[in-house]
Amino acid sequence: MKVNHYALQLENNYLFSEIASRLRAFQKEYPDRTLLKCSIGDVTRPLPRILVETMKNAAEEMAHPETFRGYGAEQGELFLREAIAQYYAKRGLSVHPEDIFVSDGAKSDLGNLCDLFDADNTVLLPNPVYPVYYDTSIMSGRHVVFLEGSQKNEFLPMPDFSVHADIIYLCSPNNPTGAVYNREQLAEWVAYALEQKAILLFDAAYESYIQDASLPHSIFEIEGAEQCALEINSLSKMAGFTGVRCGWTVVPRTLVLDGASLHQMWFRRMATKYNGTSYIIQRTAAKVFTEEGQQAVREDIAYYMENAHILKKALNQAGIWSTGGDNAPYVWLKAPNNLDSWEFFDELLNRYGIAGTPGAGFGTAGEGYLRFSSFASRETIQEAAKLLENLDFSGKSSK
Ligand SMILES: *Cc1c(COP(=O)(O)O)cnc(C)c1O
Repeated sequence: MKVNHYALQLENNYLFSEIASRLRAFQKEYPDRTLLKCSIGDVTRPLPRILVETMKNAAEEMAHPETFRGYGAEQGELFLREAIAQYYAKRGLSVHPEDIFVSDGAKSDLGNLCDLFDADNTVLLPNPVYPVYYDTSIMSGRHVVFLEGSQKNEFLPMPDFSVHADIIYLCSPNNPTGAVYNREQLAEWVAYALEQKAILLFDAAYESYIQDASLPHSIFEIEGAEQCALEINSLSKMAGFTGVRCGWTVVPRTLVLDGASLHQMWFRRMATKYNGTSYIIQRTAAKVFTEEGQQAVREDIAYYMENAHILKKALNQAGIWSTGGDNAPYVWLKAPNNLDSWEFFDELLNRYGIAGTPGAGFGTAGEGYLRFSSFASRETIQEAAKLLENLDFSGKSSK
């Protein structure tokens, strides 16, 4: 018997356990100080009432012979796939329900999509990066090359046509940087993917946070994407579904790479290893796309975006460089006085009681930066902002 040796190559991810342990130490040392947590990569507001009512009604259907449901449709229930297609149609995009696959979330899909591609592929990742893309690539034995984000490119690295890639991951709006590619930039990425005959895996988990009407929400807004891209999305951040679990992936039937239909391959893969998202959850998810559902989730998104705005304003006042926060629930900031990510984390925590997420945890290009999340209560954000406005790190610099 041999284990998957690629899986053994995964490095331990200390980021979130290390943050948790430093926050515990802070609370133990200063039991009377308030901890202002701006480090959470998870929604904090409860589900809108109308979604919970929908969920209860769907559960009730299971108690009656006329409405009971067993195994569902393989790709996801048609009512949900049609609702998702309508969601795209409202922005003038024609995505066919047949090209939509419902799942229990984006993370599963991002990992499972690795089943479709040979181990002998080069993966291109932006740096800093959502750790799932890197870890799943390593677990399936793929060679990874990085493209550096920096202040110079506003943390929106562009393709280098002289670098070869077979699989490209993009996340826009980005976690961790909150930066968003514009239409011209995505068009260049699509051109690159087509030229490389690569597959572009586009993670749109934060598209519902986009405020600027000129920014693209979907890779399928770009001509040619249906020949080279598939899109992963999720209700986790759009509708507070991180604990409920529902997402989807669009795999166009037009997508033929290496002589194979990725749509057919993904259908076969899902039918083999997945028995569908719970009916109760799919009903609830469909409610999200109704007018009342959208209104309810938009209120929560607006709340988080106001939080992001308050954080940004405070950082501007303090003269600290930041990006993100305008079209994403994350603000990405430069540590003052050349502190490294963890030094800045410790200083913010111990002097101000503010917790962020060290940028170095998202890759080497994140060193010297920190991520603030707007997933927090207004009170927490306002208190943190008041302290940040007068942030003073004079005399503090890296060892
Ligand atoms: C939160 C998040 C998701 C959503 O993942 P789920 O598994 O659907 O909860 C996807 N991509 C990124 C970059 C995220 O931050």
